[in-house]
Amino acid sequence: MGLIVHKYGGTSVADLEKIENVARKVIRTKEAGNEVVVVLSAMAGETDRLIALAQKAAEDPDPREFDSLISTGEQVTVTLLAMVLNRLGYRAKSFLGTQVKVHTDQAFKKARIVRIDEKVLKHELKKGTICIVAGFQGVDEEGNITTLGRGGSDTSAVALAAALRADACDIYTDVDGVYTTDPNICPQAKRLAKISYDEMLEMARAGAKVLQPRSVEMAKKYNVPVYVKSTFTDEGGTLVTKEDKDMEKEVVSGVTYDRDQAKFTVVRVPDRPGIAARLFTPLADKNIVVDMIIQNASVEGFTDLSFTVSRKEVKTAREIVEKAAREVGSERVEVDENVSKISIVGVGMISHSGVAAKMFATLAREGINIEMISTSEIKISCVVHAKYTELAVMALHEAFQLEQRS
Ligand code: ASP
Ligand code: MG
Repeated sequence: MGLIVHKYGGTSVADLEKIENVARKVIRTKEAGNEVVVVLSAMAGETDRLIALAQKAAEDPDPREFDSLISTGEQVTVTLLAMVLNRLGYRAKSFLGTQVKVHTDQAFKKARIVRIDEKVLKHELKKGTICIVAGFQGVDEEGNITTLGRGGSDTSAVALAAALRADACDIYTDVDGVYTTDPNICPQAKRLAKISYDEMLEMARAGAKVLQPRSVEMAKKYNVPVYVKSTFTDEGGTLVTKEDKDMEKEVVSGVTYDRDQAKFTVVRVPDRPGIAARLFTPLADKNIVVDMIIQNASVEGFTDLSFTVSRKEVKTAREIVEKAAREVGSERVEVDENVSKISIVGVGMISHSGVAAKMFATLAREGINIEMISTSEIKISCVVHAKYTELAVMALHEAFQLEQRS
């Protein structure tokens, strides 16, 4: 007996039939004697549809109105699930972010949760109510509806699990766990029974779509055990948890790719103190995340500076960077959207040498040119031409013998 948070993604609630299936799973957990909180996404494709609508209404929609609109998909699914559960004879109640309340900052489209009131939910849970909470949304201190960024209902679920001190957080999705790489690209990909928070975080940041990175950060911070499971089978599953000794034996746990990359190059920047700050501060002010940065060797007092941002932010970033580049006296700005980031991730890298060399040699053998490199303690990423994405993933998966993982 305990308190369990279930989260269901868009494909698991895509229509009423699927919502009935979710209701059965929720009931099973409830009947086992648990208190249950359910977090839902919008129906598959619904958030995309709403975003497209907003963009038809205005080229650059007001962020406050935009978030109010795109959060509505979740209102549909939580209320439908509550109705189905009620019909089946269970006490169930839906809650929007503003009703819980899920307090966030004011960064529309990518708000961060700052605090969750657990009073209302605790009260309902005590009465035996199944609480169904709309994922992806919150409320700022002025009462505006905010959203947490694409895939944000994972973060809603983990944040609720942390706030309610839940015993487990089960993330139900259309795949049966976390794989060594995307099985759609590489059929040899293996499901991992267990993965550490740090590895999962790096994989999510490097483009693995299963969990939103923020949700993993939060799970790690509050030590929430997260199970990634399939809605459609009882088999499989991956536990995301604290690192243990066994995990370090494996050098690499996964290969990920991220096509959502655009590379900016600011050409002939004067090589003086303070220039990088003047280029990157205005981007930070607009909440644009800069990923990789490289600065070339200086020639006659000038240097080239390259960095990557999300492709979705190219338009805004270009305006900001072109203005800043003019102000610091650089020659021009180039933008390349045909790039992709390939990463290998593993806690074992800390204690094994030669991992980077092996990655570079593998890409070289396939004739793939590396445009940028960045590393962390447990991750190595290379930016390559987008057309090599699949080839690079398959070659690295084979080179690090990931088909032998279990
Ligand atoms: N419905 C939102 C999205 O499509 C949130 C989520 O699915 O996690 O991004
Ligand atoms: Mg998702």
